[in-house]
Amino acid sequence: MTPNGVPATIEPFRKDLLEWAESNLRNFPWRDDSISVYEMFVAEFFLTQTPAENTADVYPEFLDRYPALEHVREASQAELAEMIEPIGFQHMRADALAEIASEYDELPTDVEELLQLPRVGPYVANATLCFALDRRLPVVDRNVNRVYSRVFGDEYPDGDADRREFALESLPEDGAIARTYNLALLDFGAMVCTKQAPRCSECFAREYCSYYQSVVADGENLDA
Ligand code: SF4
Repeated sequence: MTPNGVPATIEPFRKDLLEWAESNLRNFPWRDDSISVYEMFVAEFFLTQTPAENTADVYPEFLDRYPALEHVREASQAELAEMIEPIGFQHMRADALAEIASEYDELPTDVEELLQLPRVGPYVANATLCFALDRRLPVVDRNVNRVYSRVFGDEYPDGDADRREFALESLPEDGAIARTYNLALLDFGAMVCTKQAPRCSECFAREYCSYYQSVVADGENLDA
């Protein structure tokens, strides 16, 4: 264990994941280094419950038409919903964006204030501020939970709050590097440590991955 309660294997995992990120991060319209808080928020708001590839089909056009909250404020609910319709939940998403635009000219950059916005949970709030402003915040979704559960086994805690704390303690100290680490974790879960048929044979974590080690110890060969 490290002094902050995270297993010592976080150190090789963090190093290996950041190396992997150097040549494997996915390229999406919301991955620009100079993205604004509003642009990042819209992306994360759409990405919740929607695959990234689908979101990428709608996102650029949405920002073209509504480049800032003031433009969202001027739109009708029907106009917003029509644009969001291809990725679903269009009425819920349109209502929430309209409500936010009615109250704010600029989005808050304090995580607790962001969490007060309609339909905004810890994932969207933390991801928005981490990816737009290099804030050192835990970004935990289903992919990240799966990766950490497999790599750290029983040492990855149960419960959303404890898991966010674990993810926070796992981050590199520097905010910009923490941003890259969080992006890499999301992409690693989507591309390598997938829900079905994880690509263990090409994974850097086999030596210390609890899931891989336990499967091998049980004599069940994966795909290596
Ligand atoms: S070895 Fe397999 S289960 Fe472990 S992190 Fe890599 S892909 Fe996931």
